[in-house]
Amino acid sequence: MTRLVILGKQGAGKGTQCALLVKHYGIPHISTGDMLRAAVAEGTDLGLQAKEVMEAGELVSDDLILGIVRERLAQPDAQLGFLLDGFPRTDVQARELTAMLAPEAIDVAIDIEVPDNVVTERMSARGRTDDTPEAIQRRLEIYQTETVPLLEFFSSQGILISVDGLGTEDEVQDRIVAATERNR
Ligand code: AMP
Repeated sequence: MTRLVILGKQGAGKGTQCALLVKHYGIPHISTGDMLRAAVAEGTDLGLQAKEVMEAGELVSDDLILGIVRERLAQPDAQLGFLLDGFPRTDVQARELTAMLAPEAIDVAIDIEVPDNVVTERMSARGRTDDTPEAIQRRLEIYQTETVPLLEFFSSQGILISVDGLGTEDEVQDRIVAATERNR
């Protein structure tokens, strides 16, 4: 059983590292951003509610997010572990996640650290439709105010690992796996 949470600014390399970790641990990759983008593409109710918020770089409401995560974590493939990417992002989400999983818990929360100027360059280059300069800036502000406090939340539980996110994909992956193995 491996239950991991990946934290880090947008552009820190969470998606890339998750794809490698999924192979390494054989657990499903659960990305709330991917689920929301799929809902937008399909034009579901959820997608319609999330679209503008995402384009503005704001956060989708905790209620909507918690609904999709609760449903996803109930699926059979998530019973043996999972990799959460882009969730939790707020204090409410982190507390609800802990409650959802009790009495079990997250094994390790991994924070991929990359400076603002580097993620801004990377995001500008990836060309996603929600990557306007304003949205990029807004997401960094929100990360600071909403998500950085979660580092303390996981740190106080003794499960936070901070990993240097600069370097090649393989270098960062090796750091993550080594730190995860040391801490779980
Ligand atoms: P991501 O692919 O994780 O960068 O997410 C893309 C966008 O989806 C974000 O900018 C938010 O608008 C929304 N989103 C994804 N995950 C969450 C979450 N856990 N809470 C609130 N909004 C989210």
